Amino acid sequence: MAVTAAVDGDRLWRSLMEMSRIGATPGGGVGRLALTDLDKAGRDLFVDWCKEAGLAVRVDRMGNIIGRRAGTDDTAPPVVTGSHLDSQPLGGKFDGAYGVLAGLEVVRALNEAGLTTRAPLEIINWTDEEGVRFTAGVVASGVYAGQFDLDFGRNLPDREGTTTLGRELARIGYDGDAPCGGYPISAFFEAHIEQGPILEREGAVIGAVLGAQGRRCYTVTVTGEEGHAGTLPMPLRRDALVGAARMIDGLNRLAFEFDPLPVITTGYLQVRPNSRNTVPGRVTFSVDIRHPDNALLADICARAEALCRTVAGETGLEVEVAEMFGRDSIRFDPDCVEAVRAAAKRLGLACRDIHSGAGHDACNLAQAAPTGMIFVPCKDGISHNEREYAAPEDLAAGCQVLLEAMVARAGVA
Ligand SMILES: [Zn+2]
Repeated sequence: MAVTAAVDGDRLWRSLMEMSRIGATPGGGVGRLALTDLDKAGRDLFVDWCKEAGLAVRVDRMGNIIGRRAGTDDTAPPVVTGSHLDSQPLGGKFDGAYGVLAGLEVVRALNEAGLTTRAPLEIINWTDEEGVRFTAGVVASGVYAGQFDLDFGRNLPDREGTTTLGRELARIGYDGDAPCGGYPISAFFEAHIEQGPILEREGAVIGAVLGAQGRRCYTVTVTGEEGHAGTLPMPLRRDALVGAARMIDGLNRLAFEFDPLPVITTGYLQVRPNSRNTVPGRVTFSVDIRHPDNALLADICARAEALCRTVAGETGLEVEVAEMFGRDSIRFDPDCVEAVRAAAKRLGLACRDIHSGAGHDACNLAQAAPTGMIFVPCKDGISHNEREYAAPEDLAAGCQVLLEAMVARAGVA
């Protein structure tokens, strides 16, 4: 099917740059944490732009902002796109914002072309994808897709335990009354920067995302005995930090025993009492393990847990390994993946299939509706970093693919 609407790459770039001024960091990135005053300012700008583009805007009970463009058959399930305007504390200009503003650019381009789809289109800014303030992340799209209870999402505490997600929504004026999800949708597409090096390295402009890898998250608590750093002889020590260090090193080595390689990360560590003059008595650390193959992932996790117990036994420590949350790998809908490939081919864009290393709102949506993702390259694969960069022409190409995939799905009257 030939689509006659063309996205305006310059306009998309200008919108991205304007959005990135809200919460701009000295290092050239963005710090726009979910449900802060800066997030409110970003949301307000998005809502203004949606209204200018003629969209009907509603806000749901999780604060997701939904801009809707009517179809000629407005009772048909909508074709939906979106991503997130919140960021990491020292994040980039493109992670999330690209997917939201690419959706907006699709609407602007269709408006200019005078083209109305049969099914309605919806552009969504999902609340709190990054999970920095409210300890979880990708929860609002999870509630929308029926993965989590509304009460669970709204009652999520912030890290300091002083407020909740629901109260912060009310504070910034985004505690909407529209139902969160619960209606049929035809398909969901999310455009996003790759956040990895593969497309750039292989000279591809479009990644047709096949799915996302499975993930298991653990909290490991190692308990020994505190003692005076000057007087407790080495042979008598039960040093929890030494044990934790051996476990973390062992987990890193464990990764290299599998093919294809999993990713295993410890990014959070808490030492008690964290004093120069005391042998550490207790250490808590995170372990994040991801792999595309669910059976292999289960095997790696079992080996990881056994490794921690073995090290604890050898060092006279106690260990507790608690699984915090996990998700099996996701396979996106074959028709949606093919729609992305087909659009790239029509446009003469170099395209390759790819797995997502990161989790995305699309992973939740995949549980509820046919879902696909479009990746575009980012420079040196760098993301969650102020230096994150994507080329304007690649962003425009991904946006045009998004337009064609959405219009093909929605149909033209
Ligand atoms: Zn993102």
